[in-house]
Amino acid sequence: MVRKEVNNGVQVKITIQVLRGTLWAIILMMLYLYGCSGTPVTKTFDPMLQEFEKDIGVSTKGTKIYFADLSGQKVGTCYVGTRVIHLDRDYWKYAGEWSRKALLYHELGHCVCNILIHSKERQLGCDFSLMGKAMETERCYRDYWDRYVRDLKARCQ
Ligand SMILES: [Zn+2]
Repeated sequence: MVRKEVNNGVQVKITIQVLRGTLWAIILMMLYLYGCSGTPVTKTFDPMLQEFEKDIGVSTKGTKIYFADLSGQKVGTCYVGTRVIHLDRDYWKYAGEWSRKALLYHELGHCVCNILIHSKERQLGCDFSLMGKAMETERCYRDYWDRYVRDLKARCQ
C-alpha cells in the first residue's frame, strides 16, 4: 500500500516534468521562429512579384517572403520546393533599387524556377547571370538588366 503510493507519486512527478519540458520546447521554438522570420511581408513585394511573373512568364503563387537576420555573408535564401524566401534585413535596407530586384529575382530563380546551381559565367566585368554565386554591383544590374531577365527566362523551368 505504501509502496504503491510512492510509485504513483513518482509517476505524477515525471509526467509534470515531461509536460514542463514539452512546454519549454514549444515556447523556445516559437521564439526561434519569430526571431528568425516574424510575419511574412509578401504583400509589400506584390509589385515586384507581378513584374517577375510578366518578365519570366511563370506564376509565383504560394511564395512567402520574410525579412530575417541571415548569418555571415548571406543576403537571401530559398530552398527549392519550399517557396519560402528569407531576405537579409540589413542588406535590403542599404541595397540599391536594382540590387534589391536582382536579389529577389535570384531567390525566385531558386524556388520558383527550380534552378539548383549557381552560374560562374562572366561578361564585360559582370556576372552573366542573375544566378551567380554572389551579388553584383548596382551598376551591372542597371546596365545589363534586359540581358539578365532574358537569361533567367531561358533558365526557368
Ligand atoms: Zn543562390
